[in-house]
Amino acid sequence: MKDENLVLVGTCYGSVDNIKKNKKDKNISKKYLWKLPKTKIPQGIESGYFYGVDYYDRHCLTISTQQGCFLSKLEKPCKFCITGQKKYLGQLSTKQILQQILFLIYDNKIMKNKKPIEVAYMGMGEPGFNYEEVAKSIEYSEKIFKKLNLESKRYIFATIGIPDSIIKLGKDISNGRFGEGKIRLHLSLHAHTDEMRNEIVPANKIYPIKDIIKSAKRYIREIEKIPSSDKKISVNYMMFNNFETDNGKKYTTINKESMDALAGLFNDTKHFRPILCEFNESWTKNKPVSYKKALELKKYLEEKGYDAKIFGSFGHNINLACGQLSGDLNQKNLCKATKEQKKITLEINKIIAKELK
Ligand code: SF4
Repeated sequence: MKDENLVLVGTCYGSVDNIKKNKKDKNISKKYLWKLPKTKIPQGIESGYFYGVDYYDRHCLTISTQQGCFLSKLEKPCKFCITGQKKYLGQLSTKQILQQILFLIYDNKIMKNKKPIEVAYMGMGEPGFNYEEVAKSIEYSEKIFKKLNLESKRYIFATIGIPDSIIKLGKDISNGRFGEGKIRLHLSLHAHTDEMRNEIVPANKIYPIKDIIKSAKRYIREIEKIPSSDKKISVNYMMFNNFETDNGKKYTTINKESMDALAGLFNDTKHFRPILCEFNESWTKNKPVSYKKALELKKYLEEKGYDAKIFGSFGHNINLACGQLSGDLNQKNLCKATKEQKKITLEINKIIAKELK
């Protein structure tokens, strides 16, 4: 893909709707839609912004690393993800990744509301297939943040598990490439057996669970060398409730047996943190899971010594939650880019061009 500046098409405005419904919602979610100049393809790139006073009290930026997902070239895409169903149109460059990060900061006036920033490579695409550009975007972001007097809380590298890039990330953290080690690795495992994972994350046939765990353990050995690094890997595990695959198989993982199997895969409460993820309906069917049930499973994992968490669905109402990013340029509820946003685009493009020189 050409390294041209991304053009903002528009913004969708929503609030944070979470598995844990809040009565008074002071939280904000926004989805930004981008495209390349002069393109006729009705498929763009999406990024997300969340500010959750009730949840985290920090700014969360969800950033895309590819247009579509490279995985769809190798294997069938993940079953729960719309991005993978779209055409793969190429890798995003460091500049294009930085454009998303900086624009979201300026458009949401983060400079005036000095809460820490979390950059999550959880948008469209698999960052493990675009490792170098993602790594460079972290390095440059840190430099730019310092100049703007901003604080990054962490960078989340969310991957379905590409072993080479996991090992590389560990080495880059241990050799100080990212400074103080604010990187958190999220492994989207979503299943505890290869048979089940082959159905849900078909790339598992290329990168099976045992290879991912092996690379995760190498990653831990690397980051242990840096005292300030985040020593825990988050393991994302989807809460499936009668989830039906293409082959007509049904999976349910909201039970103690699945939690035992998941915990048994790692056998390491110090370095692995299970994250129970809410399923976002894409085109596949899955019965909803109550917050009470999710809490019950979390508690069960905690009793086993794991620092388990529940990952709720942010931005569901504007199709911004996990697995919902389509990049559709003709989507509803899109407010066209304003004059002010066009001005911000010019401003941030100048900052990035100067930094990348
Ligand atoms: S979940 Fe990630 S890796 Fe899987 S298809 Fe979607 S974008 Fe690609």
